[in-house]
Amino acid sequence: MTALIHPCGVKAYTSVGSMGAAAISLASLTDCSPGQAKQNSRIAGGRVIDAHIHVTPAKVKKALEVMDDNCIKYGVIIASISGDDPNQYVGDKAFYEIIDSIKPYKNRLGLHYTFDWSLAETDPDFFRNAPDMLKKAVNAGAIALKNLKQLGLEAKDHEGKLITIDDPRLFPIWERAEKLGIPVAFHTGDPVAFFEPWNSENERWDELKLHPEWSFADKNKYPPLDTLFNQVNNVYRKFSNIQFVAVHVGGYSENLKEVGKWLDEIPNLSLDTAARIGELGKHPASEGHDFFTKYQDRIMFGTDMAYWNGCDVQGAGPCKNFTLEEDHKFYEIHWKYFQTVDKQFDHPTPIQGKWKIDGIGLDPAVLKKIYWDNAYKFYKLDRFGVA
Ligand SMILES: [Zn+2]
Repeated sequence: MTALIHPCGVKAYTSVGSMGAAAISLASLTDCSPGQAKQNSRIAGGRVIDAHIHVTPAKVKKALEVMDDNCIKYGVIIASISGDDPNQYVGDKAFYEIIDSIKPYKNRLGLHYTFDWSLAETDPDFFRNAPDMLKKAVNAGAIALKNLKQLGLEAKDHEGKLITIDDPRLFPIWERAEKLGIPVAFHTGDPVAFFEPWNSENERWDELKLHPEWSFADKNKYPPLDTLFNQVNNVYRKFSNIQFVAVHVGGYSENLKEVGKWLDEIPNLSLDTAARIGELGKHPASEGHDFFTKYQDRIMFGTDMAYWNGCDVQGAGPCKNFTLEEDHKFYEIHWKYFQTVDKQFDHPTPIQGKWKIDGIGLDPAVLKKIYWDNAYKFYKLDRFGVA
């Protein structure tokens, strides 16, 4: 049974953690709007940045409505992807369409620029033009650069050869990002199960059955996950003046020890939590608690909530038109995972697997960083009057 999180029932985790968990003080639990006190769980700090959402022009209003209903003061649109699902498009067309639609909401929404990697195959001048394309996007308002998972996995050059993530032909892009002073996001790999055989034995079969194109099990076609992680880590190390965010818990939420090693070794690397609460919740709660506590300055809260033109996706799963109440429940489960020590409740993305998760009851000071401070600093949101 999963009880609603009562505003006063939010507890800090007390049994583990070297930093010593203090009891949550009620003063830090402020509702984002007094009128919502009845429906809302109290959110530590009372305001949140969702550092990983997707919004298309037709859905800007809906996104803002859901954000208002869940204390999300700012949303980072992590990629320029637009169009109707499943006929999405990326690159300049999507970027300029979206940036235009969010112009009136500079203090609520920010957008990453995203390259259309298929251009590397079709346009012989792509590598030469790419840095200027990025500069133009930043001049038009891009707050960062997001690299989709196709890089390393599928994107090919003009000769039809797979482009590695650490390909030197891409260095001028990273150099330009550094010069422009913008952060760079990488989506590297995908869940470990997507690299395992595509059959009903696969742990993520529900998802893979629905999206066969998400399977990277064909070893003749796709490099192994380790290779991709090595390549992207080479870029993080070489471009040490760039702030990088490895989305989806570095693409390796199955192995927090390994992700911890990367964070220990690479000081300019941060993570987001998008669409990985299910995987995170597979680890013992104490491990999750200790991971978030240890790397409290390096992790940004994100959900992967997607407001596509035609329908919405809650992190993962069906594309449909969710009600405000359904979206509220989706966020609610996140607060429950991070803030409580409740046991055995459903995670926010049931399609990823049918297990239950336990809350990790983070310390309020840690929550405040993960919900707000880290993304605020990472994207320098003071310049947009975000509050
Ligand atoms: Zn996403």
